[in-house]
Parts: sequence; structure tokens; C-alpha cells
Amino acid sequence: MTRLEKLRQTLAELGLDAVLVTQPDNRRYLSGFRGSTGWLLISSKSALLAVDFRYVEQARLEAPDFEVVHIKGEPITWLPQLATASGIRKIGFESEHLSFATYRKLRTALRQHGIGFTPTDNLVESLRAVKDKDEVDNITAAAALADSAFDYARSIIRPGMKEKQVAWEVEKFLRSQGSETLPFDIIAASGPNSALPHARTSERCIRENEPIVLDLGARVNGYCSDLTRTIVLGNGDDTFRRVYDIVLGAQLTVLATIATGMSGGDADSLARTIIEEAGYGDKFGHGLGHGVGLNPHESPRLSPGSTDVLKENMVFTVEPGIYIPGWGGVRIEDMVVMENGKARPLSRSDKIPNTTSGGLLIR
Ligand code: ZN
Ligand code: ZN
Repeated sequence: MTRLEKLRQTLAELGLDAVLVTQPDNRRYLSGFRGSTGWLLISSKSALLAVDFRYVEQARLEAPDFEVVHIKGEPITWLPQLATASGIRKIGFESEHLSFATYRKLRTALRQHGIGFTPTDNLVESLRAVKDKDEVDNITAAAALADSAFDYARSIIRPGMKEKQVAWEVEKFLRSQGSETLPFDIIAASGPNSALPHARTSERCIRENEPIVLDLGARVNGYCSDLTRTIVLGNGDDTFRRVYDIVLGAQLTVLATIATGMSGGDADSLARTIIEEAGYGDKFGHGLGHGVGLNPHESPRLSPGSTDVLKENMVFTVEPGIYIPGWGGVRIEDMVVMENGKARPLSRSDKIPNTTSGGLLIR
């Protein structure tokens, strides 16, 4: 089944005549159109891509399965007309994306034409969570680029370098090796800064014998990767060795155990139980992982209570961490694809301790 066919099946189940797609990744996923503005109106019979004059030619080239409509002015004028012309009486919209101001204006305008306007959740996102072969190929290429960027980071990082300098060198490497714009700002967090899971890369100079968290990703043909490694220049302290072993043990257990049919909440608790039993339960304050695709953070969610079910051909991260305020943190993040019921790793960077003293120690 094509993406549009799957979407139409869901529309029929929800009793909707059409859906209005405004979220950029969803728009690209369904139509192929990469422009920054445009509206999809998809019904059982028609697939329209409404764009202003800047995008008409691009839309025709990139979205051959869609009828391109050249729009002028506000959607309150052209949307009721388009819907009426297509016999659409009930439109679903993306409640997570359409702004409240636009919703209010559109609802009023559509109501005047006797057209219903209903919120939907996760309609396209749930389709996007399961990848096809081309998508897995692009993500695999992005994951390989992230692996080479980590190798590069290891080769250049020295005590005395600023976190920002490391991040910038890695960014330049990624772009020169073929990554499109980066999916997110690179994190290079050292010492106490590494205790912040989403640390802002700072002017701090990296020192020996402290944890350094590197979180980076690449983008290939729109598809993202996401990789984290924690390293030490020199010798980690006892806390580092202990914490690194716990995080690595939790991550390896999840990679070996997760299976299709499991919920995101169950997967999360596999890692969480190990970290809790080691006494660091309250230091693992984020979810275990997230889907990766056109967006670096998408469905499924692997977090406490998540009911998202892990399915064949889903791609997501497995990234347990322990964060100790004032000391630092350890996070190990790999991407996997679910195949034959199990997780196949897409990330290949070293994470097994390479000295007898534990941790991933370099130099
Ligand atoms: Zn990451
Ligand atoms: Zn991540």
C-alpha cells in the first residue's frame, strides 16, 4: 500500500472526508514537496497541494502524485472553496501543529459553508514511524556519517579545547562529508556540564579525567541520525567507571532484549530497572529513546508509560543515561531498526571500554 492509501484507510475509519496536512515533515512525507509553505488537502478521491506563486513550479516537480493548486491570500478564502468544489463536508486537521489562531479563523470560515473541522492526532506521524527500504537506507547513511564524525571528534579532541570549538570542528566535518543542514545542534558537554542531558555547548575548556558527552547527528536526503558517546581524556574516576558500566549494561540489555510487540513503556522499563537497582533511578530523568526519520525526534516514544508498540521496520534510539549534578553524566545512544522481530543496530561507534580501568578512555 502507498502512503496515501494507508492515510485514506485511516480517514475512512475516522469518518472524515479529508485531512488538511500542514506539518512540514508530514507534508514532505506524503507528497515529496520540500518547500517551506504549503497545504495538503487529501480526500478519498483527490490529493491537492495548495501553494502560493513562489512554489508552484517546485510543487509540480516534487509532488507528481498531487494536483497543484495555485493559491492567493488567506486560507479562510480558498480552503472553503476548494473543499466545496471537492464535495468535502468534514475535514480533519493536525491538532499538534495548526496554531490556535489559524484554527479559530478556519473553523468559523468553514462553518459558514457547512463544513466540519475536527482535530486529529498522530495521523501521519504513526505512518512515518514505520520505515520503508529507501528510508532505512537514507537513515543508515546518516548513521554512518555520525559514526565517522565521532571518530573524527576522538581524533581532534584535546584538553584545553573549548566545547564550542569541538562542536564547530565536528559540524564542519559533517557538512564537508555530505550531511545536509544538521538535524540538531551538536552537544559537546564536559565535566559538570555533562550532567545536563540537553546541555548548551559552552566556552568551557575541556579537561582531563572528566566525562565528555558528545551528541551529534547527520542528515541525508532529509533523513536524520542521532548518536551519543561519553568519553574521558585520561583516566576516569571511580564514579565514571561505575556509572559507565551501569549505563552500558542497561543499553546492551535493551538492545539484546527488545522485540516487536513490546510497548515503548516496557522497553523503557528494561533499562530503568537496571539503573534503579544500581541506585541511580532518580538520575535517569528522560525517556529511553525516540523514533528518528525526517525529524530527529518522532514516533515511537520509548519512555515511562508509552503505549506506542514497537513494530517491524521502526527506527529509534536507545539512549539510557545517568546524570549527577556537579559531577557530570554518562549517556550512550545508538540507533536501531526493528528487523525479524529484533533490534538491528545502525550505529557502529565504539562504546565498549578499551582499557582495563573501565569506561571508554582515550589518549
Ligand atoms: Zn542524541
Ligand atoms: Zn536522541
